[in-house]
Amino acid sequence: QGTLMQGRRGIVMGVANDRSIAWAIAQAVAAQGGEVAFTYQGEALEKRVRPLAASIGLDLLVPCDVSDEGAIDAAFATVAERWDGIDFLVHAIGFADKQYLRGRYLDTPKEAFLQALDISCYSFVSVARRAAAMMKPGGSLLTLSYLGAERWTPHYNVMGVAKAALEASVRYMAADLGDAGIRVNAVSAGPIKTLAASGIGDFRYILKWNQLNAPMRRNVALEEVGGAGLYLLSALSGGVTGEVHHVDCGYHIVGMKHPDAPD
Ligand code: NAD
Repeated sequence: QGTLMQGRRGIVMGVANDRSIAWAIAQAVAAQGGEVAFTYQGEALEKRVRPLAASIGLDLLVPCDVSDEGAIDAAFATVAERWDGIDFLVHAIGFADKQYLRGRYLDTPKEAFLQALDISCYSFVSVARRAAAMMKPGGSLLTLSYLGAERWTPHYNVMGVAKAALEASVRYMAADLGDAGIRVNAVSAGPIKTLAASGIGDFRYILKWNQLNAPMRRNVALEEVGGAGLYLLSALSGGVTGEVHHVDCGYHIVGMKHPDAPD
């Protein structure tokens, strides 16, 4: 138990279960004295999210489907009834129709493209605008990205394009909010077996490839992404904004297969 987040409160969006990156970040924040409200996608997830929240002493849980602007307004109104301000927000939400997370990107239909960009990118802009309006200087906004934003990775397709737009949004919003003392950053996490990841074609192969070829020769642990999230939300990263911080055991620097890795 530490005190890094003592007196700071905020919203964590995207807990689906105990493998969620959002859950790892929430645990790290709560262990440092931070106060967290969860938003969850819908009723089906509430029974999973409620006991997790209770286990770290949280009781503010709000449904919020981010494809619905009205639902986002309602969620922020609920939080505003309880808290007069917030200090941080975590957006750990992404979605694309898994039918298009395999095969060719070229074949992505317009509806699937717009839905992926809406839920995986625009939703961060939408919640960041509302969150920033509730923040004082020192506020911090955080989202989650993946290497597929910067380079081609197999099967990531329209999600890679959505993450590229998300990372660009981090930079533009960092500039918009910088003089208000509000920071905007992303963690680009290495592959982790979560519910969202299970929709990506050949995900086991991606995990194995990263494990064999990352400089650290292993995959990143959920707790390590939690720790990096805590850093970006806390005053420790007070001079950091517009950053996409890789937490991937170094995989993003790799240009070739490791010579010791099997073919
Ligand atoms: P997860 O399945 O635990 O979390 C994804 C969350 O998105 C879920 O809670 C789901 O309910 C939520 N969501 C989807 N559509 C939504 C909607 N319309 N409204 C509200 N919520 C919605 O998986 P995760 O891996 O923890 O994903 C969190 C974030 O991390 C995502 O942005 C993902 O792209 C990113 N990420 C994951 C990995 C990985 O390998 N797991 C790597 C890098 C980045």
